[in-house]
Amino acid sequence: MRKYSVFAIAREAMRAHKGWEAQWTSPEPRGAYDVIIVGAGGHGLGAAYYLAKEHGITNIAVIEKGWLGGGNTGRNTTIIRSNYLYEESMDIYEHSLKLWEGLSQDLNYNVMYSPRGVMMLSHNIHDQQVFKRHINANRLYGIDNEWMTPEQAKAFVPVLDISKTARYPINGAALQRRGGTARHDAVAWGFARAAADRGVHIIQNCEVTGIRRGPGGEVQGVETSKGFIGAKKVGVSAAGHSSVVMEMAGVRVPLHSNPLQALVSEPLKPIFPCVVMSNTVHAYISQSDKGELVIGAGTDQYNSYSQTGGLQIITHTLDAICELFPIFRRVKMMRQWGGITDNTPDRSPIQGITPVPGLFLNCGWGTGGFKATPGSANLFAHLIAKGEPHKLASGLTLDRFRTGRLIDEAAAAAVAH
Ligand SMILES: Cc1cc2nc3c(=O)[nH]c(=O)nc-3n(C[C@H](O)[C@H](O)[C@H](O)COP(=O)(O)OP(=O)(O)OC[C@H]3O[C@@H](n4cnc5c(N)ncnc54)[C@H](O)[C@@H]3O)c2cc1C
Repeated sequence: MRKYSVFAIAREAMRAHKGWEAQWTSPEPRGAYDVIIVGAGGHGLGAAYYLAKEHGITNIAVIEKGWLGGGNTGRNTTIIRSNYLYEESMDIYEHSLKLWEGLSQDLNYNVMYSPRGVMMLSHNIHDQQVFKRHINANRLYGIDNEWMTPEQAKAFVPVLDISKTARYPINGAALQRRGGTARHDAVAWGFARAAADRGVHIIQNCEVTGIRRGPGGEVQGVETSKGFIGAKKVGVSAAGHSSVVMEMAGVRVPLHSNPLQALVSEPLKPIFPCVVMSNTVHAYISQSDKGELVIGAGTDQYNSYSQTGGLQIITHTLDAICELFPIFRRVKMMRQWGGITDNTPDRSPIQGITPVPGLFLNCGWGTGGFKATPGSANLFAHLIAKGEPHKLASGLTLDRFRTGRLIDEAAAAAVAH
């Protein structure tokens, strides 16, 4: 596959861009593969890429019922950070953040990772105590996170209203400077291109409808809308549909699927330098490179598979954004959408083996798995290749819901991403 470089761009400019190859192929499925991954989101595509690159396994199919990146990977607000509370979380999110830092070079694809800083606003003493606890835990673990006074926060984000009369007064903020954003579609496309380049088959418009098991209970392959496809190893990375797919193998997983919404404004000139989140008022905002304000809301409280979400949720979010940033009161909103998030009881992901031999699971990333994409994919590839979790993901296994060894990140991840 042609490498992107300044020379390639110059050469193609001279010949009306007729020499670019397709970024990935769309092959018909073979009868069997060594590994099948269900779900061509960033996590599934990334796992296929790392399986090929780091473990030498290339006879892989990534099977997607829609189009690649059309799930939550292409629907999220792209916030990236690693300042979670517990070591199990810090391990995987920091592993991911480090991969983000070199991902464009690794994939030879510009994923537009932008470490512009993620600021979490504190509105009361409880917020302040929680954030300081996070800051201390992060710094002890070698992860950057710092406390800011309201004045320091305003110097970083000049449009912040820190007046004492504000509806949601701000008494400080936590800032992770290495946090930021990336271009979500580019992440899916970059992984797809790099995986396909190594021989991985990406099969779109092909729904997995069943998981076939052998006499010993082991995985034999998947039933799909294009027929049966065999594999001794199947990895499920289907986000909001993970519990539906796992049910096909007779495995119940502790997940609730809830809609989560986002919306973008008309494009504005650059005015908003970083990501700002307010967990207390349920709103977060950044500005894309196109100039649109990217705004995220909270999850609907009911379970659903419709990619829309309730109007009252985004109304509440926009009320909060206008109170926090009165300057945006007259900005028009252009688009709104939803995605189905897979939420665990402790708001931490699940990655590990399952009771079914050959069936591996990566799910439960809920409202916050975009930031984990390269790290999760990298460790999921290790799990599938070796048959046991990497030490950085060893706390995330399914059996914590049996042993009670939960990783309660609700304060870090309930609405915050
Ligand atoms: C509105 C919104 C905002 C968010 N904001 C952030 C954020 O700012 N930061 C952050 O870190 N995270 C955020 N998230 C969460 C993040 O988007 C997800 O955790 C992450 O993208 C999950 O990636 P994935 O590859 O696991 O899932 P997906 O990208 O959803 O991929 C799963 C794929 O599986 C496919 N699939 C499902 N069932 C089947 C089947 N039976 N057969 C074949 N294919 C199937 C789906 O079609 C889908 O393409 C947000 C999510 C939403 C919805």
